[in-house]
Amino acid sequence: MAFQQDRQMYDVDLTCGKCGAHISQLPFQPTDPDRKVYCADCNREFRNSRRDNNSRFGNRPQRQMYDVDVDCAGCGTKITRLPFMPKAGGKPIFCIDCLKKQRA
Ligand SMILES: [Zn+2]
Ligand SMILES: [Zn+2]
Repeated sequence: MAFQQDRQMYDVDLTCGKCGAHISQLPFQPTDPDRKVYCADCNREFRNSRRDNNSRFGNRPQRQMYDVDVDCAGCGTKITRLPFMPKAGGKPIFCIDCLKKQRA
C-alpha cells in the first residue's frame, strides 16, 4: 500500500482572518460562517505561538488548591490538599506518592 497524503480537501472561497490571503481549499467544511478561518501559514504561526505560551505557563506552577479530607485509595494516607475538588462517587483519589508510583 502506498502512503499517500490523501486528506480530503474542500473547495472554499474564503479570506484568511489574519493576513487576508485568499483560501481556496480547506481540510474541513466550514459550517459556521462567523467562525474565522486562517490560511496554512497563519495556522502554523498560531499553533507555534500557542505552544510557546503553554511552556511558559508550565514554568509557573500556580495552581489553585482545595482543602479536602479524603483518604488515599492506594495507601490510606490522609489527603488535605488537592488541585481539584473531588466529586462524591467519582474517581478514587491517590496521594502524591501513589500517583508518582503509578506514573513510574
Ligand atoms: Zn493568513
Ligand atoms: Zn497513597
